[in-house]
Amino acid sequence: MKKLPFDKEQMERIVKDHSTPFHIYDEKAIRENIRELYKAFSWNKGFKEYFAVKALPNPAIMQILHQEGCGMDCSALTELMLADAIGCSGEDIMFSSNDTPGEDFEYARRLDAIINLDDITHIDFLERHGGIPQRICCRYNPGGEFRLGNDIMGNPADAKYGMTYDQLEESFRILLAKGVKEFGLHAFLASSTTDDSYFPTLARELFTVAARLHERTGANVTLINLSGGIGIPYMPHERRADIAHIGAEVRRAYEEVVPEGLDIKLCAELGRYVTGPYGYLVTRAIHKKDIYKNYIGVDACACNLMRPAMYGSYHHITVLGKENAPADHVYDVVGSLCENNDKFAIDRQLPEIEMGDLVVIHDTGAHGFSMGYNYNGKLRSAELLLCEDGGVKLIRRAETPEDYFATLDLSVYK
Ligand SMILES: *Cc1c(COP(=O)(O)O)cnc(C)c1O
Repeated sequence: MKKLPFDKEQMERIVKDHSTPFHIYDEKAIRENIRELYKAFSWNKGFKEYFAVKALPNPAIMQILHQEGCGMDCSALTELMLADAIGCSGEDIMFSSNDTPGEDFEYARRLDAIINLDDITHIDFLERHGGIPQRICCRYNPGGEFRLGNDIMGNPADAKYGMTYDQLEESFRILLAKGVKEFGLHAFLASSTTDDSYFPTLARELFTVAARLHERTGANVTLINLSGGIGIPYMPHERRADIAHIGAEVRRAYEEVVPEGLDIKLCAELGRYVTGPYGYLVTRAIHKKDIYKNYIGVDACACNLMRPAMYGSYHHITVLGKENAPADHVYDVVGSLCENNDKFAIDRQLPEIEMGDLVVIHDTGAHGFSMGYNYNGKLRSAELLLCEDGGVKLIRRAETPEDYFATLDLSVYK
């Protein structure tokens, strides 16, 4: 059974001050989880998690993670601005580029962020937009299929990211000639995976490539970036990644593959794993209709959480106060968009839902609010923080129609 950090009574108090829908994030659980990650990699001096800002771009959450020792993984101008706003610069920012505008590179260079370069042709582009730094990371794409055992976990040959090995070697030579002193290597080969062998397998491959690049170009490789991709148990029966085991297996790969003379710091850019399970979309049941199927309409929609509509993803649902009631009804739980895919759950077994019930959608702490949009004139919701001390803080107010119309001048139509 999936647990909640609040009960019906507590939530009824919260919704007195904050109208539904909203996302609420559990500070205590986020801090505990990130400490566990750091512990798993404590054998590697200098290990750093760069939180993938796109997963949950809220400065209050970013600040909590920064306090826990995390840097920020950014890939857009506004994400850099957020990182800047909470006091990150230099080694605290990874700027993972791909098809990146010049303006973004210039800002990243002003912050002295670590640039994670996506392509050999971007070397000249970066030189013209901010200049070549002394340390740089490069994105590797091994092509082919990425397998763990017999399972195909990803298809790098179809991915737009990274460089081939030959381009990587050529890039290192060009960058060395341009004065780069320290190199990093990055790859992102599987997304949302709960297979504990992903990071160890990826690490082994990157260590091998790093050793080869060092041998053939003389480049000083000091950073291996394992990026993101560790998944979370969205379904109640799924297991969590065993991060201590993952850390130990990456260590084994390090000890077996990294040659004498290379002193490599590890980093990750996890997003989903860091905040995903610790966010909840709180909505209220406002309509019930029975036609060929039984529908519960809630006051949130796919604009607040796109994953079920976009990927058919499972998000667990709890009806507050009915945690122990028998799940003897079958519902489609839907939002109000004029799109038939606006369904948080299809044929879900739930306790009987009455109008006004608080319906909580789990695991919205990553790629939830941040994938939101304004289709059908819908407004983005508020975000709340359930603080460690049990208090509740508004960390983003809900949008108003004024926000929605801010880019228009309606007065000219009068
Ligand atoms: C999206 C992304 C991440 C985070 O991915 P998760 O699945 O949330 O862990 C990390 N690095 C890069 C470059 C990304 O694009």
